[in-house]
Amino acid sequence: MAGYLFKNCAAIIVDDGTGQTVHRDADILTDGPAIKAIGQNLSAAPQPEGTTVRDATGWFVYPGLVNTHHHFFQTFVRNRADLDWTKLSVIEWLDRIYPIFSRLTEDCFYHSSLTAMAELIKHGCTTAFDHQYCYPRHAGKRIVDRQFEAAEKLGIRFHAGRGGNSLPKSEGSTIPDEMLETTDEFINDCARVIDAYHDDAPFSMRQVVVSPCQPVNAYRETFVESVRLARDKHVFLHTHVGEGESPVIEARHGMRTVDYLEEMGFAGPDTFYAHCWELTHAELAKMAASGTGVSHCPEPVYLVGAEVTDIPAMAALGVRVGLGCDGAASNDNSNLMHCIHSGYMLQCLVASTRQHPVPPPADFLRYATVEGASLLGRKDIGRLAPGMAADLFAIDTRRMDYVGTRHDPLSLLAKVGIGMATDMTMVNGRIVWEDGEFPGLDEARMMAEAEAALSTITLA
Ligand SMILES: [Zn+2]
Repeated sequence: MAGYLFKNCAAIIVDDGTGQTVHRDADILTDGPAIKAIGQNLSAAPQPEGTTVRDATGWFVYPGLVNTHHHFFQTFVRNRADLDWTKLSVIEWLDRIYPIFSRLTEDCFYHSSLTAMAELIKHGCTTAFDHQYCYPRHAGKRIVDRQFEAAEKLGIRFHAGRGGNSLPKSEGSTIPDEMLETTDEFINDCARVIDAYHDDAPFSMRQVVVSPCQPVNAYRETFVESVRLARDKHVFLHTHVGEGESPVIEARHGMRTVDYLEEMGFAGPDTFYAHCWELTHAELAKMAASGTGVSHCPEPVYLVGAEVTDIPAMAALGVRVGLGCDGAASNDNSNLMHCIHSGYMLQCLVASTRQHPVPPPADFLRYATVEGASLLGRKDIGRLAPGMAADLFAIDTRRMDYVGTRHDPLSLLAKVGIGMATDMTMVNGRIVWEDGEFPGLDEARMMAEAEAALSTITLA
């Protein structure tokens, strides 16, 4: 695959490993899957054969966003008045939503994944992690396989979280019996998808993360065996933590969630938790010490009305923080660029109640890029520098929307918020979205097929 030379970019967010800086009036050259050079007047030198030269005047070029938590399958329950968080208790909400989830078919998982990933790409996301924990028995086991198929069709880098639930409702979980798996079933299928898809080579497009859904909905052995498998196969671990379950875990196991997971070894630099909004300072300090990361999903905090995640405390303690959209059951969009803005605004809302200052807006761009990459264990993505993967997106700032904002590209996404799609998104050196189209794909057809799959599970 030949490369591209984007000439005269108004700004490029460069990070050589020492922090993000803005390079003005610069060019960026890609070669195959990687960035070859960033600098001024690169076009004056001879280009590798086959290089496509583009005028990028007015463009702000950002590192591709890394989404660290999502549930693609929930994309098929968006914008429903009957699932309004503000009118339902969590139990009522679960009682309405699980009957829908339990009817999902393998095709529904494919098309909802395609829908979510398409929206992510349009808004600058180049690497997506998905936490797929919904396994209705009739849908079979080939759900992650279909997700990899959808990711490949769109060209997005995909980290599949193979989730699952083992504890029945009769023993205190919230999961209908038709969506349960035994620990053996879950672990065996995790091993299957790791063996079939996990690739840890540089510029890998496919990785697998062992991701039991949450401690309240699984037997202890499910987590113990997850740790054993992940360490044996050298893959990462993920689960939900600190979203209101700690008192339940304490009643069952005599300790709160963070201690319970640490005691089983479900912690460390190869482990990241979603949410963590109810954690104590001592628990955050333990996570900082073990190197365990946090995927912060700001949008569900607004919806659920829970305690606001203490990002300033995490930053002060050195806890690694990435950003996530979360699933559409608690965030009706798959727009990580929007989360950079909403995440920053959320912290500002409660700044006066915090011990530590709100991190600067530019840090929220770092959470969505280089720190998100760190949570996934990737050293080859998340920042723009020679030798890194050519994962990036561009915004043409020659629009009224950007008048008065162009002096600070690092803070633009967090402070101003960008509603529209990118002008171009590139993954591994390949343009996957440009000028309102997915090159080589028929969006209208993909949309119609997704709607047809969705219509099969709509509540009567
Ligand atoms: Zn979640």
